[in-house]
Amino acid sequence: MINLPKKSIRDVDVAGKRVLVRVDFNVPLDIERNVVDDTRIRGALPTIQYLLDQGARPVLMSHLGRPKGQVVESLRMAPVGKRLAELIDRPVLTLKECVGPRVKEAIESNPDKVILLENLRFYPGERENLADFSRQLAELADIYVNDAFGTSHRAHASTVGVTAYIPSVMGLLMEKELETLGTLIEEPERPFVVVLGGNKVSDKLGVIDSFLEIADTILTGGGMCFTLIKSMGLEIGHSVIEEDQISQVANAMKKARRKSVRVMVPLDFVVADRFDKNANFKVVPTEAIPPDWLGLDIGPATVERYCAVLNEAKTIFWNGPMGVFEWPAFENGTKSIAECIADASATTVVGGGDSDAALRQFGLEDRMDFVSTGGGAAMRLLEGKKLPAVEALADR
Ligand code: ADP
Ligand code: MG
Repeated sequence: MINLPKKSIRDVDVAGKRVLVRVDFNVPLDIERNVVDDTRIRGALPTIQYLLDQGARPVLMSHLGRPKGQVVESLRMAPVGKRLAELIDRPVLTLKECVGPRVKEAIESNPDKVILLENLRFYPGERENLADFSRQLAELADIYVNDAFGTSHRAHASTVGVTAYIPSVMGLLMEKELETLGTLIEEPERPFVVVLGGNKVSDKLGVIDSFLEIADTILTGGGMCFTLIKSMGLEIGHSVIEEDQISQVANAMKKARRKSVRVMVPLDFVVADRFDKNANFKVVPTEAIPPDWLGLDIGPATVERYCAVLNEAKTIFWNGPMGVFEWPAFENGTKSIAECIADASATTVVGGGDSDAALRQFGLEDRMDFVSTGGGAAMRLLEGKKLPAVEALADR
């Protein structure tokens, strides 16, 4: 694992201190406002538990949904606080505000409770990163901890603004994300195989460029690979294509040859006669996609070939489904590749919201070494870009 330049909670003394923790509790709620999926809450537990074990007093804060700078009753944090209380053996006090005298008073008079502030995005100052709101947040605590990797590509009051006022360090989840993803682009164990799929190649060119510096093999699938195939001069029928990206993709392929990175495209596809869940479908070789059909999944020969490569890998990173896995007729490629990755002896890392959803659909999420909690932030980091909320933290 690489060494990170930033301080973590383990580098500072938190005993007896009030610690303001930015977490990502942006969880899905059902119509009765119950938490449907508590993965993100669980993700923050190591940091919360660490702070409690050290005798610190955690004050947690997060956004929830998109209330656009005003109070939206259905987006209050209360149900999240309730779920959190079921997961830790400490009472949780969920407040109805984020800043001000009543919040300060509640923190002072409840030293034995975990405090959860109201939805940060009820305040316009949060997304606008206003100094006044940032300062008011900072006044609530002695130390700031950022454990919300998924929002670290955004410069908001609770991710960047607040760091101007109190010592600021990363939480354990943030640390794990940065270490794991940073290791991928800096010192992966080889062979390093990257599996890239998903919808648009334009979304992926940044990470492709970055992985061309360090990966040994890139296995492509999903909608994005058709622009690659087209750039090789093959016909792709009605499959998704971004015509305006063809020259960019061709450049990437040139770079791949220069860097001796093997970029593989599927050998066969499951093609459909229309973009529909109930479309007619059949398997065809890549050179024989019928003009009126479109590729919605990789085929069995591709799965076999790709799995052979994955079996040899020491490090695997996967982002982007291999097909339209949301529809049963086209889920097989994604499912089979996910199974190969799960069975591989390599260190396995997965990033991307839909890839994560696919893993859950197949019940394979626990069989990966690491599933990143940050879609956009993870991609930015892998592109080699700086994350403003990480840059703002104290250097070691
Ligand atoms: P992630 O969120 O994991 O980064 P993306 O958002 O890039 O993944 O892509 C996911 C979407 O790509 C899925 O909704 C899936 O249906 C779609 N997709 C995969 N293969 C194809 C294809 N051949 N044609 C059209 N869409 C596809
Ligand atoms: Mg997505």
